Amino acid sequence: VTLIVALLTALLLACTQPAFAQSVRIYFFDVGQGDGVLIQSPSGQNVVYDGGPAVTRMVEHLEAAGVSNVNMVIASHNHADHIGGLPEVIRRYRPRFFLENGVPTTTATYRRLIESVDSVAGELIEPTERRISFGDVTLQVVPPPGIEAWDQNNNSVGIVVEFGDFRLSLAGDAEQPQWSWWLDHYPNLFRPVQVHKASHHGSRNGDGAAGIASLSPKVVIINVGQNNGYGHPDPRALELYTSQRSEVHRTDLHGTIVVEAERSGKYTIRQDHPESTRPQPRTAAPPVTVR
Ligand SMILES: [Zn+2]
Repeated sequence: VTLIVALLTALLLACTQPAFAQSVRIYFFDVGQGDGVLIQSPSGQNVVYDGGPAVTRMVEHLEAAGVSNVNMVIASHNHADHIGGLPEVIRRYRPRFFLENGVPTTTATYRRLIESVDSVAGELIEPTERRISFGDVTLQVVPPPGIEAWDQNNNSVGIVVEFGDFRLSLAGDAEQPQWSWWLDHYPNLFRPVQVHKASHHGSRNGDGAAGIASLSPKVVIINVGQNNGYGHPDPRALELYTSQRSEVHRTDLHGTIVVEAERSGKYTIRQDHPESTRPQPRTAAPPVTVR
């Protein structure tokens, strides 16, 4: 009996040990024509940035990736190819924090999004220049212009993910007017990154030479659907990336893409079929701080 008790105790202890990873993971899910990104901290906190066009596909990806909690949802801007899947994510995971560009639209998709945020009483975070920390992972918010006369694309919420020496930039569907505005107003936020998510699915009016030169990404990931009717990515965008010697990865060609990065800045890029999972930590994660 003593032996059994000892074995059970050992087993219980093994199960309650923290399963902390040492790396941050950023998933670029294959959501068809749209963006669907998950940022997962080493301590298992999860931030969703956009949720693709389909109602349930993003939730299915998150479940396949073993995600059991989502702390925060960010909508880069309120077009359906970015927010279509977010209401289901919000209802399923009930995130505490929600951040959007603050430029409402009149679509039914946007109304469903706001209803879902209301239904879980999520705390609204203004898209101002602020830093949000999930343990050692920090999200630097790059504010949208908030100019209502500009369209949704040019009011995208930018995010720079930082983990030690690793940096990754997300720019929604920002086009040239917003890029000029960003580089004028927040030049200090546009420093070199290892990985950049192509603006506007690699359209010709997304990333420009000045923005890409300041980010000088080693890798560009294009979240884009197969045979989309927009001709994304545009050959001129691909030329821009290769002229900066950036390696290009595309969800239309490779499916879901996972970036895994260490504090040292070292990173790997993987194509995942299906999403690989890692155990969620069993101990309390560090508090989220919003500054
Ligand atoms: Zn889009």
